[in-house]
Amino acid sequence: MRSKHWYDYLWIWSIIYFSLGFFNILFAWLGMIDFLLPIIIAVFRGNKWFCNNMCGRGQLLSKLGGALKFLGNKQAPRWMASKWFRYGFLGFFLTMFSNMVFQTYLVAAEARSLTEAIKLFWTFKVPWGWTYTAGTVPDWIAQFSFGFYSLMLTSMLIGLIVMVLYKPRTWCTFCPMGTMTQSICKLRSKSNQNNN
Ligand code: SF4
Repeated sequence: MRSKHWYDYLWIWSIIYFSLGFFNILFAWLGMIDFLLPIIIAVFRGNKWFCNNMCGRGQLLSKLGGALKFLGNKQAPRWMASKWFRYGFLGFFLTMFSNMVFQTYLVAAEARSLTEAIKLFWTFKVPWGWTYTAGTVPDWIAQFSFGFYSLMLTSMLIGLIVMVLYKPRTWCTFCPMGTMTQSICKLRSKSNQNNN
């Protein structure tokens, strides 16, 4: 049995991250670590070390899904792992991310005011104002926090839904970060082959 490392406990970080968002939305920025680190590792190491070792979300889904395996642990439909779905979802996710950045820009440019709410599943607006005291930071910093936390929470909820319906880590088959890092690794190994 392999010995435990500190990064085997990052599932706890995942719980802490989502909990902090209920108290102070500015902590949402910490999620950028989970966003950038897999990309940096894929670019410099050319592998999915983050996914295999450091992803708190993946670990949490494994743990929760393992505890709930009496629900059936069913195989996910094959289309969920298909190329068109994974890349389609990645495209959708990046579009939503860009829109969130654009909304942040509009607030920074004073073209619209700060919305103290989160949007679940890109549709349902949920008032979240108790997590922020107006004026603590520039409005655009707070706007990014609300938008980014919406994205993180929505993707976690989708992960939990497919975990209950199918296998624990079904989310990983179409997770945008997983698809993106896989593409980076493929491009890297192709360019290495061409250089040899
Ligand atoms: S595919 Fe996504 S959720 Fe799964 S381990 Fe990788 S980054 Fe984490």
